[in-house]
Order: sequence, then C-alpha cells, then structure tokens
Amino acid sequence: EMKRYNSQKKELKVQLLEKEPEFNWKVFWIFFNPQLSAFLAAVLLAVGAAILNIHIPLMLGELVNVVAQFTREHAGNYLCEVKGPALRLLGLYGLQGLMTSGYIILLSRVGERVAAEMRKSLFVSLVRQDIAFFDANKTGRMVNRLTSDVQEFKSSFKMVISQVARATGVADEALGNVRAVRAFAMESRETELYTVEVDKSSRMNESLGIGIAVFQGLSNVALNCIVLGTIYIGGSFIANNDLSAGDLMSFYVASQTVQRSLANISILFGQVVRGMSAGARVFEHMVLEPTIPLKGGISIPLNLLTGHIKFSNISFNYPTRPGHVVLKDFDLVLPPYKTVAIVGESGGGKSTVAALLERFYDPDNGIITLDGHDIKSIDPSWLRGNAIGFISQEPVLFGTSVMENIRFGKPDATDKEVYEAAKMANAHHFITNFPDGYNTVVGERGVTLSGGQKQRIAIARALIKNPRILILDEATSALDAESERAVQDALDRATSGRTVLIIAHRLSTIQNADIICVLSNGNIKEMGSHETLLKKEGLYSELIKRQRTNEQK
Ligand code: ADP
Repeated sequence: EMKRYNSQKKELKVQLLEKEPEFNWKVFWIFFNPQLSAFLAAVLLAVGAAILNIHIPLMLGELVNVVAQFTREHAGNYLCEVKGPALRLLGLYGLQGLMTSGYIILLSRVGERVAAEMRKSLFVSLVRQDIAFFDANKTGRMVNRLTSDVQEFKSSFKMVISQVARATGVADEALGNVRAVRAFAMESRETELYTVEVDKSSRMNESLGIGIAVFQGLSNVALNCIVLGTIYIGGSFIANNDLSAGDLMSFYVASQTVQRSLANISILFGQVVRGMSAGARVFEHMVLEPTIPLKGGISIPLNLLTGHIKFSNISFNYPTRPGHVVLKDFDLVLPPYKTVAIVGESGGGKSTVAALLERFYDPDNGIITLDGHDIKSIDPSWLRGNAIGFISQEPVLFGTSVMENIRFGKPDATDKEVYEAAKMANAHHFITNFPDGYNTVVGERGVTLSGGQKQRIAIARALIKNPRILILDEATSALDAESERAVQDALDRATSGRTVLIIAHRLSTIQNADIICVLSNGNIKEMGSHETLLKKEGLYSELIKRQRTNEQK
C-alpha cells in the first residue's frame, strides 16, 4: 500500500516536472512590441545615468583635490576655487537624479502596461477554454496565473531592465531591493496555498540562494580587500606625492559603486530565472486553444426552428476520467413540443446528457442533431444563447440586482421584457414586494433569497430569451410544499410549446411528462409514459417502489 502510494507520488512529481513549460518569446514579443519606444527611451536614460555615475567619482576627486590643496597651503580664496567643481558636481547629481527617476517611471509604465495586457488576454483565453479544462485545472491555480504569476513576471521584468543600468554602475539600489523583497514575500504566500508547487520552487530558490550568497560573500571580500589595499598602498603614494588625495577618493567611490552593482547582479540572476518561469506559465495558457470554440458555425432562423433533437449512438467518458464510461451506445429522441424526462440511479449519467446537448463536451462517438444539423456545425454561442434555455434548479445568481440577474439571459432585453419573464416565472409578485423591487441586490451583500425564490428568478432568466428548447436539471433536494407548488406552476407554464428535457433526480415531479426514459448502464433501458412504465413492472416501477420505501423510513 505504502509502496503504491510512493510510486504514485513519484509519478505525480515527474508529471509536474515535465509540465514546466518553456518561455514563449513570440508571445512575449506581442505584448512587448507596443511598449518598445518607451522601453528604448528608458534604456537610453539608464545608460545616460550610468555614464554620469562614472563621471561623478572623478568630479568628487577634483573637489577633494581642491580641499586637499587648501589644507596644505592655506593660500588664495577657498570658496572661490571650490565653487566651480562643487557646482558642476551638484549639476551632475541633479541630472543623474532626473535621469534615474525618468527611466524608473518609464520602466514601471512599460511593466504595468505589459502586465495589464497580459492579464486581460490571459483572462480571455481562460474563460473560453473547454469545460473539460476546468474539470482538470483547479480554479485557484488559474487565479494564481492571473495574479501572482503575472505580478512576478512584471517585477522581474522591471528589475531586469533597471539592472541593465545598474550593471554599468548606477548607484540607486532601493527599487531593485524592494522588488526582490516583494517577490520573496509572494513566494511565501504561494507556499501556504500550493503545497505541491512549494517543493519545486523551494528547491530552486534554495540553490539560487546559495549561489547568490556565495557570489555576494566572495565579491564583498574581494571588494573590501580592494578598498583596504587602495588606502594602504594609495596612502604611501600620497605620502610620496605620486597620487593626489582626490584620485584616491575617486577610486574609492568608484569601487563602492562597482560593489553595489555586483551585489545587484546576483539578485538579478535569481529574479530572471523566476520571472522566466512565471512568464512561461502565463504564456502557456494564452496559447492554449479550446477544442470547442465559443463562436462560429451555422444558426437556424428562429421561426424555422422546431427543436427536434436526436442523440444517435453516443459514447462518452469525461476527459478527466478516461476509462470511466458514462454513456455507451446511447440513443434518444426529443420530439418537438414534447417533455422528455430522464430518470435513473444517481451518478448514472443523466446530467451528462444535458451537458452534451449544451455542448460543454463533445461525445467520443456518435452524433447529436438539432433539426437534422449536427450540433458540431452549429454556432455554440447561438445554441446556448438563443436555442436552449438551461434551468439548473440549484441556480447561481450573481451579486447584482434582480433586474440584472434576469436580464443576464438576454442582455438587450427591455425592462418590460424582464417584468414579463418574471410574471411567467411566478416571480413578479415577490420581487415587487421587496422594498427595492427589481433593484434589490441579491447574494453575498444583498438580500438572501429562499430556495424557491432563487429558482423562480432562474426560470425567468431562462424564459426571457424565449428558447425553443428547455433543459431542466432538477434540484436534488425538495423545497417546502408551498415553494414547490409555486415553482412547479412556473415550470408547467414554461414547458408548454417547447421541447423539454428534464433531468429528474426525484420521481414525484415528472409523472406528467410525455415520455419517461430510464437510464441505466449508459443507455436508455425503458421508455414510455408513467402509466405504461408502471404496468410494465420493470426498472421504473422498481425505482418508484424504492423511493416509496425510502420516504417511509
Ligand atoms: P446523474 O446526473 O445521473 O446523477 P452525472 O451525469 O452527473 O449523473 O454523472 C455520471 C458520471 O460521471 C458519474 O460517475 C460522475 O461521477 C461522473 N462525472 C460527472 N461530472 C463529471 C466531471 N465534470 N468530470 C468527471 N466525471 C464526472
């Protein structure tokens, strides 16, 4: 048992290691290209600041020489002599400061804009992925891509560029260090949330950390020795008048600048590695193409649409669970204007039939047609948005007004259309009884609705687009008797004149359906009206009996 667990764990690790994507320069360029001129300006300013930085120690040396001369000779006008080099130095300081802030401003602009564009485009590409993609990927991990990966990429990006300048000797290190600290803090937050990724990143960071530490330690020792040596040897040169005090000062300041630059380069190295892998993870999802597109294909004129649906020879297993066959040689016809209910054991695949009709997944085998057209040739957004209304009776309402929640079914609906749909769904009355009426905000910070009220709003949301086909995925839990009646009443009205597929998790509500189908072992085993199936004394009457005994318990 333990051995099996260990080998599974190893397998998972190997998969994760293999999965680490490569950095995609082509995609990076798409985002970077629009910022190119700002970027080049930043580099120019940074290099300018770096050149000034080389001049500053020299000017400083000149100044020190004037001071030294006066300490030795006490002759002439000190203030007059010192004014020239001091003013020039002051000018250089000012110019260097301006250039430094200039390139930092430009770089943050470039970084922020690239990151914002990346976030938007990543969101767009995530949202259009197949449902199977969301089965396989935890939402948390994707939100992470959207936030911390982009953030990490951005900050290392900014740091890399500002270090271009620093490598040549720019003195200001505050920015880089702030960023490095922030990046580490982010690592630690990830650590709490994503245990698996932790192993990987900590191992990497540890070796990076060792590398950085050794590099910094050695360069510190080396540079401090240079400083010591400079003063030690330089002192004797000065004593012999071979070297001026100013030259020594220049050298001293310059060597300190170099030291800081080297320290930054080592931090930069770690940041580049992390930034590249964060960027690679982000780009990986951007270039991912869904197998079922959101748009594209034919649409049937609504006045010609009858809503005749046929499932032929369907086989299906969920992409995340290969080998677990849900539907096999499944056939089903939904005749126009009829109500067909699917019953069967829980987990038997009833909701899967609805998911295939909505084209959340494509079947592995077989074909589903609407009015004779393969649904693969039909525009999925038309199919979901105009042809089919889906009422899940454990509905999701959004944290906005009742009005907006209903209008969600048809974004361009007028207020009047919203009221009509609500009336049809038995919802108008209770909505107008709220103090804010249709402007009542529901959900987290708004009014909490009862189960029955939520369902009726969901029914109104489906009815507002006046769909030819209606899918009702029944609630698994019962409502109180009064709500149940109100909801059932709304549903009875909603189903008339439409092709209706009811996914029945309970049996009590579907006895009036035109056709009841019993799904078992992946396909339909029995079919007929409630009475015919009862008389047959097969699977259906067995299910009814079992439910009765369950209710009596
Ligand atoms: P029912 O509606 O009859 O209760 P479902 O269609 O929901 O059954 O599920 C049929 C089978 O498919 C079950 O074994 C279930 O565990 C599995 N299943 C359902 N949804 C998914 C999914 N998104 N990913 C993987 N397996 C799923």
